[in-house]
Amino acid sequence: MKIGIIGLGFVGLTLGVALASKGYYVIGIDIDDEKVEKIRKGVSPFYEEGLNELLQDVLNGNLYVSTNYSMIKDTNVVFVTVGTPSNPDGSQNQTYLYDSIRRLANVWKSSMDYKVLIVKSTVVPGTTRRLAKLLSKISGLSLGSQLGAVMNPEFLREGKALYDTFYPCRVVIGCYDQKSCDIIEGLWKDFYSKIGNIPPILKMGLEEAELVKYASNAFLAMRISFANTIANICEKTPNCDVIKVLEAVGLDPRIGKQYLRPGLGYGGSCLPKDVKALIHYSKDKSYEPILIKAVDSVNEMQPYKAIEYLLMVYKDLRGKTIGILGLAFKPNTDDVREAVSIKIIRKLLKLGAKVKVHDPLAMEHVKKIFGDKIIYCKSPIDTIRDTDGVILVTEWDIYRNIDPTTYKKLMKSPVVIDGRRLYDPKEFIKKGIRFYAVGLYVNHVFSLST
Ligand code: NAD
Repeated sequence: MKIGIIGLGFVGLTLGVALASKGYYVIGIDIDDEKVEKIRKGVSPFYEEGLNELLQDVLNGNLYVSTNYSMIKDTNVVFVTVGTPSNPDGSQNQTYLYDSIRRLANVWKSSMDYKVLIVKSTVVPGTTRRLAKLLSKISGLSLGSQLGAVMNPEFLREGKALYDTFYPCRVVIGCYDQKSCDIIEGLWKDFYSKIGNIPPILKMGLEEAELVKYASNAFLAMRISFANTIANICEKTPNCDVIKVLEAVGLDPRIGKQYLRPGLGYGGSCLPKDVKALIHYSKDKSYEPILIKAVDSVNEMQPYKAIEYLLMVYKDLRGKTIGILGLAFKPNTDDVREAVSIKIIRKLLKLGAKVKVHDPLAMEHVKKIFGDKIIYCKSPIDTIRDTDGVILVTEWDIYRNIDPTTYKKLMKSPVVIDGRRLYDPKEFIKKGIRFYAVGLYVNHVFSLST
């Protein structure tokens, strides 16, 4: 079976490398020349643990990459993994999807073999069916007999992309027709049998599969916004620390601990845009999704908690120097799409503060956004030095071990805001640091001995 992949981003490149590493013949297409050139040299355009090494193993053996769609003319199945970002109104931007389908249709035109379109991009319900119809119309292949369509949502986590591709907790296949459904189920069974671990494979309708992805992401987002809501209540409640509250809540097996940590909100390329797209889709169907709207609203406000803490200490941030530790939307990635750090930096600049930043991987991406408006530091220590406040935004391990004495010694005025609950408040308060943490009672009047 010859497999094509359209879109070599986080999802497409990881998928291509994973399939090729298990012996499948894969051709990856992307319209971005620079990206393809980099991949051809064995360098992933983004950071993902283990990906460069595996890419170099499979490149020009089982994996070929190109910008030329005619390379996928003879493929039997094509995964579409192009981006589906948000429009300014929150609806899904499907420009890349439609463009890729038109290009694919032109190379599959009048083919004699049975072809399968697999949509892996996250798409609002009804999209795969519409894309399949368009592909059929332009290519002349009859849908159902010469052409099949499948929706196969992706659940990988950035930072764990390869692991999640090899060991997913489930595979979802939305089917237009039985034949294409059987082919893709067979492909995944074969792939996972090579790994020695076949996950549950759930088959359903196209629209159901599309909705599984949105429901999953909305649920995860809901847990985060819930944790942040309880955190915000704890901040107003004497003697309260949300960490203790949520730890006890999460031990209930009906609830569980995952995605129940307080912070400055969720970011990244998926949760924010998927929550907004689901809201927009529901409204289009004349349904007001009150719960999902609240999840989004809580998240929109949460990053600015960090600024509120600063404004409790300094009425005016003009001329103050603020250090930001962590720029990526989460640790172990260089992705800054919809990152909380970007929102905080924008606001700080607007309020007249001078901003110094550090991140182990994401600095180059942030430079493209802010240029010389902020200071890029080589180390966390340089970032902390001579500041009037430090906000810990991403919970990278290297920030964990910076002790309160270092903050106290280096900062012009020791005000530390722990946006990810990495530090022990007692240790910081003991050292005379003005310490604020998401979900910790703001006035710290309670005994810190417990
Ligand atoms: P990405 O932006 O990293 O990659 C998309 C790629 O598609 C880019 O390299 C772009 O150049 C390419 N592209 C755009 N138009 C093209 C065209 N017409 N032909 C060929 N290539 C084209 O996106 P991503 O993060 O990999 O996400 C892809 C999809 O998967 C999205 O729908 C996303 O919501 C979904 N998804 C992402 C993740 C994740 O963690 N990143 C997880 C699950 C699902």
